[in-house]
Amino acid sequence: MLTGAGISAESGIPTFRDAQTGHWARFRPEDLASPPAYQRDPEMVWEWYAGRYRDVLAAQPNEGHRLLAELEAHKGAGFFLATQNVDGLHARAGSGTHGGTLVELHGNLLSARDEKTGEIFPLPAPEGLQTPPVSPNGNRMRPNIVWFGEYLPEAALNAAHQAFAGAEVALIIGTSGVVYPAAGLALEAMAEGATVIEINPDETELTPLLTFSLREKAGQGLRLLLE
Ligand code: NAD
Repeated sequence: MLTGAGISAESGIPTFRDAQTGHWARFRPEDLASPPAYQRDPEMVWEWYAGRYRDVLAAQPNEGHRLLAELEAHKGAGFFLATQNVDGLHARAGSGTHGGTLVELHGNLLSARDEKTGEIFPLPAPEGLQTPPVSPNGNRMRPNIVWFGEYLPEAALNAAHQAFAGAEVALIIGTSGVVYPAAGLALEAMAEGATVIEINPDETELTPLLTFSLREKAGQGLRLLLE
Protein backbone atom coordinates (compact mmCIF):
# COMPACT_ATOMS: atom_id res chain seq x y z
CA MET A 1 0.00 0.00 0.00
CA LEU A 2 1.10 3.53 -0.68
CA THR A 3 -0.71 6.58 0.65
CA GLY A 4 -0.39 10.31 0.07
CA ALA A 5 -1.96 13.48 1.36
CA GLY A 6 -5.41 12.51 0.00
CA ILE A 7 -5.99 9.85 2.65
CA SER A 8 -5.76 12.53 5.35
CA ALA A 9 -8.02 15.01 3.52
CA GLU A 10 -11.08 13.58 5.31
CA SER A 11 -9.30 14.28 8.63
CA GLY A 12 -9.14 17.94 7.64
CA ILE A 13 -5.40 17.99 6.83
CA PRO A 14 -4.92 20.02 3.65
CA THR A 15 -3.38 18.24 0.67
CA PHE A 16 -0.44 19.85 -1.03
CA ARG A 17 -2.74 21.62 -3.48
CA ASP A 18 -5.19 22.76 -0.78
CA ALA A 19 -2.29 24.19 1.21
CA GLN A 20 -1.88 26.86 -1.47
CA THR A 21 -4.32 29.02 0.52
CA GLY A 22 -3.88 30.77 3.88
CA HIS A 23 -1.06 32.61 5.61
CA TRP A 24 1.77 30.32 4.52
CA ALA A 25 0.56 30.19 0.92
CA ARG A 26 2.75 33.14 0.03
CA PHE A 27 5.81 31.00 0.79
CA ARG A 28 6.85 28.36 -1.68
CA PRO A 29 7.34 24.99 0.11
CA GLU A 30 11.01 24.96 -0.87
CA ASP A 31 11.38 28.32 0.94
CA LEU A 32 10.41 26.62 4.21
CA ALA A 33 11.08 22.92 3.79
CA SER A 34 14.69 22.85 2.67
CA PRO A 35 18.14 22.85 4.30
CA PRO A 36 19.02 26.37 3.00
CA ALA A 37 15.73 27.75 4.40
CA TYR A 38 16.49 26.23 7.79
CA GLN A 39 20.03 27.56 7.81
CA ARG A 40 18.73 31.03 6.92
CA ASP A 41 15.91 31.22 9.44
CA PRO A 42 15.44 28.24 11.80
CA GLU A 43 12.92 30.23 13.89
CA MET A 44 10.60 30.81 10.96
CA VAL A 45 10.86 27.22 9.72
CA TRP A 46 10.12 25.94 13.23
CA GLU A 47 7.16 28.31 13.57
CA TRP A 48 5.68 26.77 10.43
CA TYR A 49 6.31 23.19 11.64
CA ALA A 50 4.98 23.95 15.12
CA GLY A 51 1.72 25.11 13.50
CA ARG A 52 1.48 21.95 11.39
CA TYR A 53 2.28 19.87 14.51
CA ARG A 54 -0.64 21.49 16.38
CA ASP A 55 -2.93 20.93 13.38
CA VAL A 56 -2.16 17.22 13.03
CA LEU A 57 -2.58 16.60 16.77
CA ALA A 58 -5.98 18.30 16.64
CA ALA A 59 -7.00 16.03 13.72
CA GLN A 60 -8.17 12.43 14.12
CA PRO A 61 -7.52 9.37 11.95
CA ASN A 62 -10.45 8.77 9.58
CA GLU A 63 -12.12 5.69 8.15
CA GLY A 64 -9.39 5.25 5.53
CA HIS A 65 -6.64 5.10 8.16
CA ARG A 66 -8.73 2.76 10.31
CA LEU A 67 -9.55 0.37 7.45
CA LEU A 68 -5.86 0.06 6.57
CA ALA A 69 -5.06 -0.76 10.21
CA GLU A 70 -7.84 -3.38 10.19
CA LEU A 71 -6.52 -4.84 6.95
CA GLU A 72 -3.09 -5.18 8.56
CA ALA A 73 -4.65 -6.98 11.53
CA HIS A 74 -6.16 -9.40 9.00
CA LYS A 75 -3.04 -9.89 6.83
CA GLY A 76 -0.32 -9.74 9.48
CA ALA A 77 3.29 -9.89 8.31
CA GLY A 78 2.32 -9.79 4.63
CA PHE A 79 0.99 -6.25 4.99
CA PHE A 80 3.23 -3.33 4.07
CA LEU A 81 2.22 0.34 4.15
CA ALA A 82 4.45 3.14 2.90
CA THR A 83 3.15 6.65 3.42
CA GLN A 84 4.36 9.96 2.05
CA ASN A 85 2.42 11.71 4.80
CA VAL A 86 4.13 13.28 7.76
CA ASP A 87 0.97 13.70 9.86
CA GLY A 88 1.39 10.50 11.91
CA LEU A 89 -2.28 9.53 11.45
CA HIS A 90 -1.55 6.00 10.21
CA ALA A 91 0.43 5.24 13.36
CA ARG A 92 -2.28 6.79 15.52
CA ALA A 93 -4.86 4.52 13.81
CA GLY A 94 -2.71 1.51 14.76
CA SER A 95 -0.87 0.79 11.51
CA GLY A 96 2.44 -0.96 12.12
CA THR A 97 1.27 -2.50 15.39
CA HIS A 98 -0.65 -5.53 14.05
CA GLY A 99 2.24 -7.62 12.70
CA GLY A 100 2.69 -5.66 9.46
CA THR A 101 5.00 -2.79 8.55
CA LEU A 102 4.47 0.97 8.39
CA VAL A 103 7.17 3.16 6.89
CA GLU A 104 6.95 6.94 6.90
CA LEU A 105 9.00 7.80 3.83
CA HIS A 106 9.05 11.55 4.46
CA GLY A 107 9.42 11.53 8.24
CA ASN A 108 7.02 12.73 10.87
CA LEU A 109 5.77 16.01 12.35
CA LEU A 110 5.47 14.53 15.86
CA SER A 111 9.19 14.11 16.41
CA ALA A 112 12.44 16.01 15.84
CA ARG A 113 16.04 15.08 15.19
CA ASP A 114 19.11 16.01 17.25
CA GLU A 115 21.26 18.00 14.83
CA LYS A 116 24.51 16.58 16.25
CA THR A 117 23.74 12.93 16.99
CA GLY A 118 20.89 12.27 14.54
CA GLU A 119 18.78 10.73 17.32
CA ILE A 120 15.03 11.16 17.01
CA PHE A 121 12.94 12.31 19.97
CA PRO A 122 9.18 12.87 20.31
CA LEU A 123 8.24 16.53 20.57
CA PRO A 124 6.72 17.72 23.84
CA ALA A 125 3.01 18.63 23.81
CA PRO A 126 2.39 21.83 21.79
CA GLU A 127 1.79 23.90 24.99
CA GLY A 128 5.31 23.10 26.16
CA LEU A 129 7.03 23.28 22.76
CA GLN A 130 9.78 25.88 22.57
CA THR A 131 11.26 26.47 19.16
CA PRO A 132 13.79 25.50 18.08
CA PRO A 133 13.48 22.55 20.48
CA VAL A 134 16.50 21.20 22.34
CA SER A 135 17.20 17.45 22.60
CA PRO A 136 17.82 15.64 25.91
CA ASN A 137 21.52 15.85 24.88
CA GLY A 138 21.29 19.65 24.95
CA ASN A 139 21.60 20.06 21.15
CA ARG A 140 19.32 21.96 18.82
CA MET A 141 16.83 19.72 17.01
CA ARG A 142 15.55 20.05 13.44
CA PRO A 143 12.20 18.82 12.14
CA ASN A 144 12.19 15.06 11.46
CA ILE A 145 11.08 15.66 7.89
CA VAL A 146 12.70 14.80 4.58
CA TRP A 147 13.18 18.21 2.96
CA PHE A 148 13.45 19.24 -0.67
CA GLY A 149 16.91 18.26 -1.87
CA GLU A 150 17.37 15.53 0.77
CA TYR A 151 17.49 11.76 0.36
CA LEU A 152 14.71 9.54 1.63
CA PRO A 153 15.72 7.24 4.51
CA GLU A 154 17.52 4.40 2.75
CA ALA A 155 16.25 1.49 4.84
CA ALA A 156 12.62 2.61 4.52
CA LEU A 157 12.95 3.14 0.79
CA ASN A 158 14.62 -0.24 0.23
CA ALA A 159 11.91 -1.95 2.24
CA ALA A 160 9.27 -0.22 0.10
CA HIS A 161 10.93 -1.24 -3.18
CA GLN A 162 11.17 -4.83 -2.00
CA ALA A 163 7.55 -4.94 -0.82
CA PHE A 164 6.16 -3.43 -4.02
CA ALA A 165 8.25 -5.60 -6.32
CA GLY A 166 7.01 -8.70 -4.48
CA ALA A 167 3.35 -7.68 -4.07
CA GLU A 168 0.36 -9.51 -5.55
CA VAL A 169 -1.93 -6.55 -4.95
CA ALA A 170 -0.93 -2.95 -4.35
CA LEU A 171 -3.18 0.00 -3.51
CA ILE A 172 -2.16 3.57 -4.34
CA ILE A 173 -4.36 5.86 -2.26
CA GLY A 174 -4.68 9.64 -2.33
CA THR A 175 -1.45 10.55 -4.06
CA SER A 176 -0.97 12.65 -7.16
CA GLY A 177 1.85 10.24 -8.00
CA VAL A 178 4.22 12.92 -9.21
CA VAL A 179 6.54 13.05 -6.19
CA TYR A 180 9.26 10.40 -6.20
CA PRO A 181 9.05 7.53 -5.24
CA ALA A 182 5.27 7.14 -5.55
CA ALA A 183 5.16 6.50 -9.28
CA GLY A 184 8.23 4.27 -9.18
CA LEU A 185 6.78 1.96 -6.53
CA ALA A 186 3.46 1.63 -8.37
CA LEU A 187 5.19 0.87 -11.65
CA GLU A 188 7.58 -1.65 -10.10
CA ALA A 189 4.60 -3.59 -8.79
CA MET A 190 2.93 -3.41 -12.24
CA ALA A 191 6.11 -4.63 -13.94
CA GLU A 192 6.20 -7.68 -11.65
CA GLY A 193 2.61 -8.59 -12.55
CA ALA A 194 0.76 -7.23 -9.51
CA THR A 195 -2.78 -5.91 -9.60
CA VAL A 196 -2.34 -2.21 -8.80
CA ILE A 197 -5.44 -0.28 -7.81
CA GLU A 198 -5.65 3.48 -7.42
CA ILE A 199 -8.15 5.10 -5.05
CA ASN A 200 -8.50 8.79 -5.83
CA PRO A 201 -11.49 11.02 -6.61
CA ASP A 202 -9.49 12.60 -9.45
CA GLU A 203 -7.55 11.19 -12.36
CA THR A 204 -3.77 11.32 -11.86
CA GLU A 205 -0.71 10.80 -14.01
CA LEU A 206 -0.61 7.22 -12.75
CA THR A 207 -4.20 6.41 -13.74
CA PRO A 208 -3.53 5.21 -17.32
CA LEU A 209 -0.62 3.06 -16.16
CA LEU A 210 -2.36 1.01 -13.45
CA THR A 211 -4.70 -1.99 -13.47
CA PHE A 212 -7.73 0.06 -12.47
CA SER A 213 -8.88 3.08 -10.54
CA LEU A 214 -11.70 3.69 -8.09
CA ARG A 215 -12.90 7.28 -8.42
CA GLU A 216 -13.77 7.59 -4.73
CA LYS A 217 -12.49 9.30 -1.63
CA ALA A 218 -10.09 7.14 0.37
CA GLY A 219 -12.51 5.97 3.11
CA GLN A 220 -15.39 5.11 0.79
CA GLY A 221 -13.10 3.57 -1.83
CA LEU A 222 -11.40 1.30 0.68
CA ARG A 223 -14.73 0.26 2.18
CA LEU A 224 -16.09 -0.67 -1.27
CA LEU A 225 -12.94 -2.57 -2.16
CA LEU A 226 -12.77 -4.52 1.10
CA GLU A 227 -16.47 -5.44 0.98
P1 NAD B 1 -0.77 15.77 -3.34
O1 NAD B 1 -1.38 16.92 -2.58
O2 NAD B 1 0.15 16.05 -4.46
O3 NAD B 1 -1.95 14.90 -3.93
C1 NAD B 1 -3.08 14.56 -3.17
C2 NAD B 1 -3.93 13.61 -3.99
O4 NAD B 1 -5.00 13.20 -3.16
C3 NAD B 1 -4.53 14.23 -5.25
O5 NAD B 1 -4.31 13.34 -6.33
C4 NAD B 1 -6.02 14.32 -4.91
O6 NAD B 1 -6.84 14.10 -6.06
C5 NAD B 1 -6.19 13.21 -3.91
N1 NAD B 1 -7.29 13.37 -2.95
C6 NAD B 1 -7.86 14.51 -2.50
N2 NAD B 1 -8.83 14.23 -1.61
C7 NAD B 1 -8.85 12.87 -1.48
C8 NAD B 1 -9.62 11.97 -0.69
N3 NAD B 1 -10.56 12.39 0.15
N4 NAD B 1 -9.36 10.64 -0.82
C9 NAD B 1 -8.40 10.18 -1.68
N5 NAD B 1 -7.66 10.99 -2.44
C10 NAD B 1 -7.88 12.32 -2.34
O7 NAD B 1 -0.11 14.82 -2.24
P2 NAD B 1 1.00 13.70 -2.34
O8 NAD B 1 0.80 12.90 -3.59
O9 NAD B 1 0.99 13.02 -1.04
O10 NAD B 1 2.39 14.45 -2.55
C11 NAD B 1 2.66 15.70 -2.02
C12 NAD B 1 3.79 15.77 -0.99
O11 NAD B 1 3.39 16.66 0.05
C13 NAD B 1 4.13 14.50 -0.33
O12 NAD B 1 5.51 14.42 -0.41
C14 NAD B 1 3.73 14.63 1.14
O13 NAD B 1 4.79 14.25 1.99
C15 NAD B 1 3.50 16.08 1.35
N6 NAD B 1 2.24 16.39 2.11
C16 NAD B 1 1.88 15.64 3.22
C17 NAD B 1 0.66 15.90 3.89
C18 NAD B 1 0.26 15.05 5.10
O14 NAD B 1 1.12 14.55 5.83
N7 NAD B 1 -1.05 14.83 5.33
C19 NAD B 1 -0.16 16.91 3.45
C20 NAD B 1 0.25 17.68 2.32
C21 NAD B 1 1.44 17.39 1.66
